[in-house]
Amino acid sequence: MRFADIIGQDDVKRHLIGTVNENRISHAQMFLGREGYGSLPLAIAYAQYINCQHRTDSDSCGECPSCRQISQMSFPDLHFVFPVPATGSSKEKAVSDNFFEKWSEFIKNNPYGSYQQWLDFVEAGNSQGLIRVEESSEIIRKLSMKSFNAEYKIMIIWLPEKMHPDAANKLLKLIEEPYSKTLFLLVAESAENILPTIISRTQLVRVPRIGDNDIQAGLQQREGISANAAEKIAGISEGNFGRALDYCGHAADLAQNLEMFMKLMRVSYSFKPADMVALAEELGALGREKQKAFLAYCERMVRENLIVNQHLDKMAHLTDDESGFASKFSRFIHPQNSMQIAEALDKAIYHISRNANAKIVFMDTIITLARCLRMPVE
Ligand SMILES: [Zn+2]
Repeated sequence: MRFADIIGQDDVKRHLIGTVNENRISHAQMFLGREGYGSLPLAIAYAQYINCQHRTDSDSCGECPSCRQISQMSFPDLHFVFPVPATGSSKEKAVSDNFFEKWSEFIKNNPYGSYQQWLDFVEAGNSQGLIRVEESSEIIRKLSMKSFNAEYKIMIIWLPEKMHPDAANKLLKLIEEPYSKTLFLLVAESAENILPTIISRTQLVRVPRIGDNDIQAGLQQREGISANAAEKIAGISEGNFGRALDYCGHAADLAQNLEMFMKLMRVSYSFKPADMVALAEELGALGREKQKAFLAYCERMVRENLIVNQHLDKMAHLTDDESGFASKFSRFIHPQNSMQIAEALDKAIYHISRNANAKIVFMDTIITLARCLRMPVE
């Protein structure tokens, strides 16, 4: 992957290229940015740039043996560690190596893929992805082997927040005093669940949201959609290119989510118990991924309706259909209730992610929404 293949993020690219050309590559770095901002592709492009045999001042060549191997995910000195589900087998350990073929396919297909998409890809079912203690022995073993012929041996750890504390503790010393010509690139979405002792040993590379213009251009080039459609999608993707790709491929989902959102609001407001139960059952029967995607959609709609409510329509990012609904509905979302609604939706996502009974979660949410929507505007 070359830097040119990455959507936007010019400042981060400039910074990373600078560390190579000014010979100040830090041996342990943490790329920190939310889902879909491109931290993982940036880390891979960085690894490729470092090991490229003919790099220029601005990018790797894309053609030398190292570049070719990295883009094929077969460079022997670039290692990946990522969360994997339990294997349920005593022979196959739940470590990255046993999932590498899948991983390589996943990354080649879409390096902006999310944690959940990865779990779906390996058909993890209800199993969470983790980086287990066994993995740290693998990491130590791999990095202690002699390098093939690379400039740097590089270990990319995707989502260290999913790392078991024992695994993290075993790696502390290695991260602090790595073998020579060895790099750790940690790619995290949130610093919250990472041991502070790990964070303090890494240099932080902040990866901000991708600019709307960059997302728009990226969609036009890669997906071949019109400037107008790309602009609309960019406007509602919140800097997340993975989400933009999703919207692009699932225009039907967007329409379905809007329809369900309208129904959820209508049923909550009308406060008829039979309708509320029926809707909780309907939503509870959707797949877990669909439920989370829908709730995330609701969060965005609540935020955008609040913006319209505050007469800041020009700042709202809505499709034409959404905008049509907001013109009538936005009067129900105001500063007095929007926080509580957002919290209720957050809580629902949290519980759904942890496999709570979805019907109960949706029933709770509907009751909270009913109360909030009827709250008087002060
Ligand atoms: Zn090259």
